[in-house]
Amino acid sequence: MPKPDSYQIFAIKYATLGGRNASENFVEGDPHERGSNLDYFVWLARSPRRTFVVDTGFDARVGRRRGRRMLIRPERGLALLGVDARKVKDVIITHLHYDHVGNFGLFPNATFHLQDDEMAYATGRHMGNAFLNHAYEPDEVVGMVREVYRGRVRFHDGDVELAPGLSLHKIGGHTQGLQAVRIHTRIGWVVLASDAAHLYENLEHARPFPIVFDVGRMVDGWRRLRELADAPERIVPGHDPLVMKRYRAPRPALEGIAVRLDRKPGR
Ligand SMILES: [Zn+2]
Repeated sequence: MPKPDSYQIFAIKYATLGGRNASENFVEGDPHERGSNLDYFVWLARSPRRTFVVDTGFDARVGRRRGRRMLIRPERGLALLGVDARKVKDVIITHLHYDHVGNFGLFPNATFHLQDDEMAYATGRHMGNAFLNHAYEPDEVVGMVREVYRGRVRFHDGDVELAPGLSLHKIGGHTQGLQAVRIHTRIGWVVLASDAAHLYENLEHARPFPIVFDVGRMVDGWRRLRELADAPERIVPGHDPLVMKRYRAPRPALEGIAVRLDRKPGR
């Protein structure tokens, strides 16, 4: 086994959504109780040899239509970290929801890494149901099908190592083919949960998020995330505003825009 590379990992916060109640964040949450905001992220994992972008965020037009507030264009956030979207070779799409796959067109040289089950789900029988399809944008799913025909989608079935120190893990639950990303860093193995855990509270208090395909797999997924990470605090949820509080900006100019996830949480 080659020694795993150590990656720097960045979370870039590109949008936010407030005014939520608890029933929007938890199955059986109280609709009269205030709920956490959701932040929206794309992630960057970089070693001396490889650069991976994890998810591409929502498209500004789609975000506006859905009432989300964009703070910075995801590609601009990447540029501030020295990454030109046009040159990126590997983009991991954790799942095909609008807030994770919009903007894929800004990565003309990338291979998109996707689970077989996610494409099957997003193009299959369940998409006839509004409860299951509402976080997908048909045009984006169709766009990704076009990328399949161009040979630019690399499908994975389950768990796979993409590079020494970086692997994909099918979790399912939130969607049928959701995958998390496990990354080796100087503080150990960090897991980008994406929407296997929207908020720390979903994971820590075992409270499922209400946008869900298979609750059983979502619940199993929390245990899988713990197995994959070196410590529970190395699991990074997909939408929690606390991520920006627990980790530090890579430099003062990026305060509020990006944080480094390969440094210990806490100030
Ligand atoms: Zn999401």
